Amino acid sequence: MLPDSRGYFGEYGGKFVPETLMPALSELESAYAEAVADRRFQQEFKRLCRDYIGRPTPLYHAQKLSEKTGGATILLKREDLAHTGAHKINNALGQGLLARCMGKTRIIAETGAGQHGVAAATVCAMLGIECIVYMGTEDIRRQASNVYRMKLMGAEVRPVTSGSRTLKDAINEAIRDWVSNVGNTHYLLGSVVGPHPYPMIVRDFQSIIGRETREQVMADYRRLPDYLVACVGGGSNSIGLFHPFFDDENVKFVGVEAGGTGIASGHHSATLVTGRTGVLHGTKSYLMEDEHGQIMETRSIAPGLDYPGVGPEHSFYKDIGRASYVTVDDAQALEGFRLLCETEGIIPALESAHAIYHAAKIAAELDREKLIIVNLSGRGDKDLDIVNDALGISI
Ligand SMILES: *Cc1c(COP(=O)(O)O)cnc(C)c1O
Repeated sequence: MLPDSRGYFGEYGGKFVPETLMPALSELESAYAEAVADRRFQQEFKRLCRDYIGRPTPLYHAQKLSEKTGGATILLKREDLAHTGAHKINNALGQGLLARCMGKTRIIAETGAGQHGVAAATVCAMLGIECIVYMGTEDIRRQASNVYRMKLMGAEVRPVTSGSRTLKDAINEAIRDWVSNVGNTHYLLGSVVGPHPYPMIVRDFQSIIGRETREQVMADYRRLPDYLVACVGGGSNSIGLFHPFFDDENVKFVGVEAGGTGIASGHHSATLVTGRTGVLHGTKSYLMEDEHGQIMETRSIAPGLDYPGVGPEHSFYKDIGRASYVTVDDAQALEGFRLLCETEGIIPALESAHAIYHAAKIAAELDREKLIIVNLSGRGDKDLDIVNDALGISI
């Protein structure tokens, strides 16, 4: 069972952090091991997943979408119906409970699009823990409604003005804060990235997606799916769906990265498809850097996919051939967005629209008996301004 005891998935992962953070990572690792073995912790997580998040989320047969492609049967795992509108809350809840177990009185988080910041602020309000969210000023400008939501729930949003003033810079600031306040502070990291044990902990909390999916597809179809398709930013919604099916060799995993304005344009976030290995934010993984070792600027129409790194477990899946990774560009994602709105009456997050587009494409080439499950990682309300600018649909 990976990662190994040093936090490696094959050659990826590990803990590349300043010496001052090593005790905090060890404390987190042992608190997590205790929580895994503690029936009361597990019961409380389960109860709040049900009563607060609204789990299990449905596995929905998208009949009209399937008919439109003329091929395979497409099922949607409805993470868009989880509280706050995306899968991020699963991990935020788990880590919030863990912070409380460790006696931490202060939680810090980073956010790009604001979805993880909102999930962290939500859980902190519910648990009564102080919450500080680092966010680049460029993202604050693009995602104003999420900033407002965080503030309503009592979180402090700290603007980050360094670098490109986006997610990568917000993570740097959060790590800096953690170094100076490790005693009373938990860093609630939002995806399967960062130093060990984060990629493991976030994966485990998000694996509720894949475990439910397995039960639901067995109950409804008496068989496992042929394909699992999910978008990949840092990689948490995809790993959460994939991981519980790791040993089922006939279930193919497809991760969809953001192709931005096209791979040739250089403006994209296709880390696994185009990147090379290196160290970013405490972990060894694929990442996007130029020939001088500088982290590259990334771009995507979906703010949640706009990150130059990716989880180490995905890097491992890529190298051993367990998953394949593809890109869908901005224009195609918008097509996926409209397709789901018009065929199913569901407005997807732009991130999830990347997965929808690719699933529809492969469905068209397959027989009707084949089953494709797409992780609908979030709802699209947050993206209506971006879509309006891009498609120019006026009301
Ligand atoms: C944040 C986000 C993503 C990307 O993050 P992962 O860690 O790759 O899952 C995808 N979809 C939605 C709706 C998001 O909010």
